[in-house]
Amino acid sequence: MMYPITFVSLGPGEAELITLKGLKTLQSADRIFYPATISKDGVQTSRALDILSELDIDANKLVPFHVPMSKDRSLAIDAYNAVSEEIKKQYKTGQRICVVAEGDSGFYSSIQYIFDNLSDSDFPVERIAGIPAFIASGALAKIHIVKQEEELNVVPGIISASDLKERIESGKVVVIMKVSQCAEAIKECICEKLDATYHYFENVGVDGKEYYTKNTSDILDRKIPYFSLMIIHK
Ligand code: SAH
Repeated sequence: MMYPITFVSLGPGEAELITLKGLKTLQSADRIFYPATISKDGVQTSRALDILSELDIDANKLVPFHVPMSKDRSLAIDAYNAVSEEIKKQYKTGQRICVVAEGDSGFYSSIQYIFDNLSDSDFPVERIAGIPAFIASGALAKIHIVKQEEELNVVPGIISASDLKERIESGKVVVIMKVSQCAEAIKECICEKLDATYHYFENVGVDGKEYYTKNTSDILDRKIPYFSLMIIHK
């Protein structure tokens, strides 16, 4: 019996926000590959591991893969290729293998490289859907993210100030991922006093680290971390 390699979405950070299907799949897996980063002083951090531990998943089946945080993307791609080869080896021994990612595993998720590598080489892959961080953010702020005929734009942090202004002024609801990459563009929009509400979130669902504000002066003063996003409404 061979089992498909399953990409399980962990949800945004709060362990209980994984799906029942995702949890059951992790509980019956033989090997679970999870992303981790190693800081300059050698310390491993992994939000995925934090979630897996909270869910009481057997630590003996957990295998980290280290994702270099370098601007040189080729280092990260080499790391994804190496873990893909390891997964292929283990698959061939008949193990039930999972790869996990925070939020939804098919939404701005870097494990896409592993998924593509495996499916391009004709290995059977499956995905289990999860709650992306922006959906959990809407719940935290108690807002309706889009209503009626409103349009939603989800943009990565490479957006320019002029592009962002145009979208806000045309009445689109904008979700910005990886806000730390476009802090200046957002500050420019706030300072121009566009008629908009800026909902700013950090570490949604993470105990002791979660932060939410729609106060623009607090946003302007904030040092923006990697796990942050915005929802902007006109
Ligand atoms: N697959 C994830 C997105 C990964 S891209 C999802 O479905 O949500 C990484 C970006 O996601 C971060 O830069 C940040 O913008 C956002 N993000 C992920 N988890 C978050 C959290 N708990 N709180 C706030 N933003 C988060």
